[in-house]
Amino acid sequence: MNNVSHIPSYLSAEHLGPWETYLVQIDRVEPHLSAELRPLAPLLTRPKRALIVDVPIRLDNGEIAHFEGYRVQHNLSRGPGKGGIRYHPDVTLAEVMALSAWMTVKNAVVNVPFGGAKGGVRVDPKLLSMPELERLTRRYTSEINILIGQDKDIPAPDINTNEQVMAWIMDTFSMNEGKTSMGVVTGKPISLGGSLGRKDATGRGVFVSTVEAARRLGMQIEGAKVAIQGFGNVGEASARLFANAGAKVVALQDSSGAIANPAGLDVRAVKAFRHQHDTLIGAPGAETIDAGHFWRCDADILVAAAMENQITASNAGSIKARILTEGANGPTTPEADLILQENGVTVIPDVLANAGGVTVSYFEWVQDISAFFWTEEEINARLDRIMREAFAAVWDAAQAKGVVMRTAAFVLGCERVLMAHKLRGLYP
Ligand code: NAD
Repeated sequence: MNNVSHIPSYLSAEHLGPWETYLVQIDRVEPHLSAELRPLAPLLTRPKRALIVDVPIRLDNGEIAHFEGYRVQHNLSRGPGKGGIRYHPDVTLAEVMALSAWMTVKNAVVNVPFGGAKGGVRVDPKLLSMPELERLTRRYTSEINILIGQDKDIPAPDINTNEQVMAWIMDTFSMNEGKTSMGVVTGKPISLGGSLGRKDATGRGVFVSTVEAARRLGMQIEGAKVAIQGFGNVGEASARLFANAGAKVVALQDSSGAIANPAGLDVRAVKAFRHQHDTLIGAPGAETIDAGHFWRCDADILVAAAMENQITASNAGSIKARILTEGANGPTTPEADLILQENGVTVIPDVLANAGGVTVSYFEWVQDISAFFWTEEEINARLDRIMREAFAAVWDAAQAKGVVMRTAAFVLGCERVLMAHKLRGLYP
């Protein structure tokens, strides 16, 4: 019986979403685990803790609204929990479980001393005023207060949460503790113990891992055609870094639509236009294309930096790129993975490609705890080194075992987690 058939009673089989993707990934990885650690693999298919909270807030019009919030700690064998907080109307417990599990694997792949966790609130933040968003954040923080803390579980930004939200979390937690506790969250404003380089860190990791793959495949970054889905924190930073390195960003897609220019888009001009008009459509020097065209476009490198489940059996076959870099978490379904493998597309998996963010979050946490701050050059140099070393370890393992990079990354990460568990032993 495979892992997908073992689902906990609190999930419904019809709404497993990304948790099902994760379980299929574990199914594919299990046979490659060492004989010593394979019997421990069921540990990976159960989150250690899942907290569901009600988040009631007073709206500006005086009414009370209730929102559902979650914090899941998937595994803490290697250290305190670490993982972002997402505000989105479609957030579910199953999604947060999957995201927390991917954090467990990711933190182990880049070897930072954290377990995996994630949080979310089922809300469309665009429908809230700033004071409502602040009340929502403060109440949610108080509700998950029993789980988080600098040496217990350290949240960070994810979709629709930012530096300001992290500052409110830090302040609320600190008020409850009776002391300033900077290390409770990462991704904070620089003036509140945030780290230089954190904003671009995930996009930078996406860029560095793609450069490493291109070099091994004999491809040049200069002149390469790059298509990017998602133009938020991760997508925009990676677009800028690719353009700075001489690549041509030929297509961009976000929730407002898709645009293209085979000669290369002016990334800065598109960013300014997006900021001003809240849409990509109409950006200077760009033609509008439909979603189908985006996936089929003539690109050497495709970066998925938006959401889960974007590359599926229905569009994977039309992807022309030689490299797919997963800036988002879980953008590729297991069926699409097989199609991409068949078509010879090199997939740099999320647990490696987007680990730059958590790596600099780790630096931020270290700096906060030691109250000693590093320069941006030091941070970028350390980040690049960790990304390159992790990439090399995954690439070499994939070659040696004859498996795709996702399987190799999961084997590396899962074996580190299971070994930590084995050494600690089963409590009591
Ligand atoms: P963000 O909110 O800044 O940006 C998300 C982008 O995706 C936006 O451009 C949005 O328009 C676009 N988008 C949303 N739905 C879409 C759809 N259906 N089709 C096309 N585009 C769509 O979020 P972010 O921080 O850039 O995160 C993006 C992804 O990267 C998420 O999967 C997140 O979990 C992952 N990630 C983020 C970080 C980080 O440091 N921010 C770290 C690791 C992984």
